[in-house]
Amino acid sequence: MTGRNLHQEWVGKTSLAEIPPSVKRRILDSQRPEPNALPICPCCGRPIRVDVTPEYDHRKPLADGGEHRETNLRAIHPRCHKRKTAKEAHERALARAAQMSAYGIDRRGPKMRGAGFRKAPGQHTATRPIIRKSERREQP
Ligand SMILES: [Zn+2]
Repeated sequence: MTGRNLHQEWVGKTSLAEIPPSVKRRILDSQRPEPNALPICPCCGRPIRVDVTPEYDHRKPLADGGEHRETNLRAIHPRCHKRKTAKEAHERALARAAQMSAYGIDRRGPKMRGAGFRKAPGQHTATRPIIRKSERREQP
């Protein structure tokens, strides 16, 4: 990364810092193949049309130690961003599971089990003894 910064590179004070409009414009400009062409989305290689609001993606994800700074940002389609984010989350989950299993930790732990349904009491608990019709006739 030499000679890239004629200007001072923008660095977010925190990872939640809003990217200033001037920085967004610089990022978009850096993705134009020609000065007046549409910026190209580095994810899919297609132009980012003017009616699409680009999203700013961290080349190296913050979760992987990437920094919230201009040189780590690029403008991409919202759809591409969603796909990339989901893919990264999935990969992280797989990596975590593999690590846990390497440590011999069963992430699921003991299964939570409900008490289940109580067994219904038998159906022969009438308050009066059940007398069949045939038996009734025999009684006075
Ligand atoms: Zn794209």
